[in-house]
Amino acid sequence: MSLRAETLALHAGWRRDPATHAVAVPIYQTTSYQFDDTEDAAALFGLEKLGNIYTRIMNPTTDVLEQRLAALEGGAAALALASGQAASAFSVQNLARVGDNIVSSTDLYGGTWNLFANTLKDQGIETRFVDPADPDGFARATDDRTRAYYAETLPNPKLEPFPIADVAAIGRRFGIPLIMDNTAAPLLVRPFDHGAAIVVYSLTKYLGGHGTSIGGAIVDGGNFDWAAYAGRQPALNTPDPSYHGAVWAEAAKPLGPIAYILKARVTLLRDLGAAISPFNAFLVLQGIETVALRIREHSRNALAVAGYLKEHADVTRVIHPAYLQGAAAARSEFYLPRGQGGLVGFELAGGAPAGKRFINALKLFYHVANIGDARSLAIHPASTTHSQLSPADQAATGVSPGYVRLSVGIEHIDDIIADLAQALDAARVE
Ligand code: PLP
Repeated sequence: MSLRAETLALHAGWRRDPATHAVAVPIYQTTSYQFDDTEDAAALFGLEKLGNIYTRIMNPTTDVLEQRLAALEGGAAALALASGQAASAFSVQNLARVGDNIVSSTDLYGGTWNLFANTLKDQGIETRFVDPADPDGFARATDDRTRAYYAETLPNPKLEPFPIADVAAIGRRFGIPLIMDNTAAPLLVRPFDHGAAIVVYSLTKYLGGHGTSIGGAIVDGGNFDWAAYAGRQPALNTPDPSYHGAVWAEAAKPLGPIAYILKARVTLLRDLGAAISPFNAFLVLQGIETVALRIREHSRNALAVAGYLKEHADVTRVIHPAYLQGAAAARSEFYLPRGQGGLVGFELAGGAPAGKRFINALKLFYHVANIGDARSLAIHPASTTHSQLSPADQAATGVSPGYVRLSVGIEHIDDIIADLAQALDAARVE
């Protein structure tokens, strides 16, 4: 039976607890699992069969979360992790080693930018940043040591959808997978439908949806033939000394098209240990049960907010996927027919002082650095998330002094707009 997203969000990966018949997914708060006997233990360690060994690398609660994410995304398998940052880092480290490089869109979450520009660089992995408005830039930046392309589906602050299909097609010519961070657009965009090979998520945002838990995930599309590009992808095609010489593209075959995600689990997660707790996996699962409803409401409310701001005399610019120009507008129509997400940016005529006054006057919106909570959230990037950047660098990332980012929640739209209206009034007063 081919189920739709609303149904998968409630049912995928679970029917009832085999031991107790519980309907809700239990929190298996255990570190370890009793082996049947030494042969059973040896088979599990040797990957002759899959099963629970130790919660750092797998857990039954987390397993349901992973199956549900893979089903929602139309992928082959998933790996849940302690945070979105861990997911981004592992997604690249799983393919690139010292001396290798990746090509990434410039339009990234600041934490990912830092990871690529500094931490992975220190580990010997170079990131070549290219403008996503020009997909061919990915081809031009590619050389023999390029192992992956990386981008965000709906990056803020610009909120211009990434040309997934174009860049995925370029990558497939070279044997290079496109990794998409789909954090801002779950259920709205399924990057595998457009040729991406790997999806990463911060579960902290819309999927968890309630601002309770940090978590991340990598989903393997199972749609990339790693063995066909042995020279390009040595990490999956040469013997891995950390797993008695396993060649992952071959070793995973009996288990399905999951070489990439299997390697990430049994090497990176084993060694670096960024495991999600079973409790957080449970909370994210609770969130996922209603994500289809929430994302619809987020999209509806954000569109209404964008329309309201567009007409406001003190607002000089509204940034929202419905108000883009040229090629970006065409991409928005193509990639976002199911809704445009919950993020809205706008610029105040009064610049940074007005931006700060606006934030301080908000009563309903929370002033936080998060996005994707069921509640409405706001931040003034120039004085917070982007304050370490020079004004020129701020401008390059799309942040002007008066720019305000809203993550529009699922409260009643009249209450959301009333709060914005009173804060815009307060921002005008010197
Ligand atoms: N990717 C995007 C698009 C994000 O917005 C964030 C966090 O803000 C992350 C990744 C990192 O996720 P986490 O905070 O769960 O580590």
